[in-house]
Amino acid sequence: MLIRINKFLASGQISLKVSENFEIDDEDFLSKTHLHKSIGFSGDIFKVDESLLLNGTVKYTFDDECARCLAPFDNAVETKFEALLLHQLDENDENDDDDEIKLKITDGCVDLEETIKQMIYLSMPMKSLCKKDCKGICHNCGVNLNHEECKCESSLTDPRFDKLKDLLKD
Ligand SMILES: [Zn+2]
Ligand SMILES: [Zn+2]
Repeated sequence: MLIRINKFLASGQISLKVSENFEIDDEDFLSKTHLHKSIGFSGDIFKVDESLLLNGTVKYTFDDECARCLAPFDNAVETKFEALLLHQLDENDENDDDDEIKLKITDGCVDLEETIKQMIYLSMPMKSLCKKDCKGICHNCGVNLNHEECKCESSLTDPRFDKLKDLLKD
């Protein structure tokens, strides 16, 4: 996942737009995250003093399960990050614990692979819904209410049921 910036570095331009589609070929990472291997990357690189500032956006999709109806679906996520691109990283840069991401420019290129993988890991949502208004499953009969209607709902809201509940309480 190399971004080539040698021409940009040599030019008088102040900013550069990048847009690439990458494929992640780390099988271990893919199976752990259920990630679809092709991801989108776009960003802007700005010259700031001696270094470069990258504002990047990663778009990825992974196989997820709806937290409400448990149906499998493709979860599309977008995450943003900022990184400093430096010609040289000194020891301080490698060891400091601030959250700033620093990447080394090597032969006019920057390798984004580790950063992108990290960003995907950090941004993966724990619980998502297949759609905003997912109706979920019926807790009584287990039917997926997005596809089917069940008869439980009416009987559960039946006033006679409330009476029964009251009885059971005592
Ligand atoms: Zn759902
Ligand atoms: Zn039901």
